[in-house]
Amino acid sequence: MNGRADLRRAARAPACALLLALSLNGCQMSESNSNANETNAPRASNDAPSATVETAAPVVAGESARGGDDPASVHRRAVAIDMHADTVQFIVDEGADINGRVATTHLDAPRMREGGLDAQFFSIWVEPPLYGLKGERAVARAGEQIAAVRALAENHPETWTLAVSAAGIRRAAAEGKLAALIGLEGGYALDEKLESIERYYKVGVRYISPTWTSSLSWAGSSGDTAGETRGLNDFGRKVIREMNRLGIMVDVSHVSDKTFWDIVETSNAPVIASHSNCRAIANVARNLTDEQIQAIAKTGGVVCVVFYPGFLEPGWKERKDALDVEIATLVEEAGREAEGSGSVKRIARDRVREREYARRLSMPTVARLVDHIDHIVHLVGVEHVGIGSDFDGIQATPSDLTSVADLPKLTAELIRRGYTEEDVAKILGGNVLRVLEQVERSAAR
Ligand SMILES: [Zn+2]
Repeated sequence: MNGRADLRRAARAPACALLLALSLNGCQMSESNSNANETNAPRASNDAPSATVETAAPVVAGESARGGDDPASVHRRAVAIDMHADTVQFIVDEGADINGRVATTHLDAPRMREGGLDAQFFSIWVEPPLYGLKGERAVARAGEQIAAVRALAENHPETWTLAVSAAGIRRAAAEGKLAALIGLEGGYALDEKLESIERYYKVGVRYISPTWTSSLSWAGSSGDTAGETRGLNDFGRKVIREMNRLGIMVDVSHVSDKTFWDIVETSNAPVIASHSNCRAIANVARNLTDEQIQAIAKTGGVVCVVFYPGFLEPGWKERKDALDVEIATLVEEAGREAEGSGSVKRIARDRVREREYARRLSMPTVARLVDHIDHIVHLVGVEHVGIGSDFDGIQATPSDLTSVADLPKLTAELIRRGYTEEDVAKILGGNVLRVLEQVERSAAR
């Protein structure tokens, strides 16, 4: 999609040799460990030979291994963490094996290596129109996605490791492994039970956003009219406190303004926005006002900027909404023709949207994404900004950030604007590590 397949050819560039080399030991181990039950095996084997070849180049200790001060070297030295991607839908619904190259996703393991991304929070997304606002089906849908993330690490220990702490992310990065983390997008699968939160904590969930685009009885969403007046009720406040107690980050992306302020007032640990931008630049309900960004910073938290053009570029959402009306019949047809579950049909509809948006809408570039970062930095400092791409959850991307492999372009633009290596390291992942550590510490108290 979107010419992503062509990117693959460019992939085996020297720039990724170091990362591949770092994974040498793990790769060799994997040969003996490889799981006989593995499904979709063909793709998984794609990268093994090239990794073996490239490991012939030794990793030299000292300055030469450290690299220069060019953007690519700065990027590679940082521990980069993406707070939000919806790739698990494609694993569960289409059997995508992201341990190898996948033509139909924004993210997979080989492109994470090319993009120098060390850790990915996979979003566990329960779509209320298909699985309900609560109940068994919502719980089961979350369960199968969590199992899919855990299976990545279990079936491919040479490549992936399940991380549940800041230390785990640092360890994975030092070992040259990709860290898979779990965040729950929307509290539908909590099934209105407080004890669910500990159950999710135990299987690895480390952030929860109370809502996606549908309001719950206990929390309002920015995506519907109920959210216009709804904040947290008593149960909602208990949910936040239970997350604080366990050490799960509280995510305000998608919640209504009223819920946002109730969360900030209730949480005794830093609050995050896993994938939201600035309303001062793109005035949509999913973005944050300056006052909200300042409030997040005051908790010690972090705002992770999202790559979706609708939240980046003023007026883009209006142009997209107008196009949606024009292509409605095409989109519906694709859904009808697709065979499979409601989720499979939804993916088919999204693919038509993606194709038509690419053809008919102009996309912003990474420079606009950095405008949002600049705005947050000017407002509250470089300690309170991170990244949350929403890859595989969005039907359009910036024209020069079309997959995770393009991530070094973000670093290049930051450096072009005068950010130092220390700043870049904070933005790419250091700030999220600090927040995670603080949330862990305040839970342990
Ligand atoms: Zn989202």
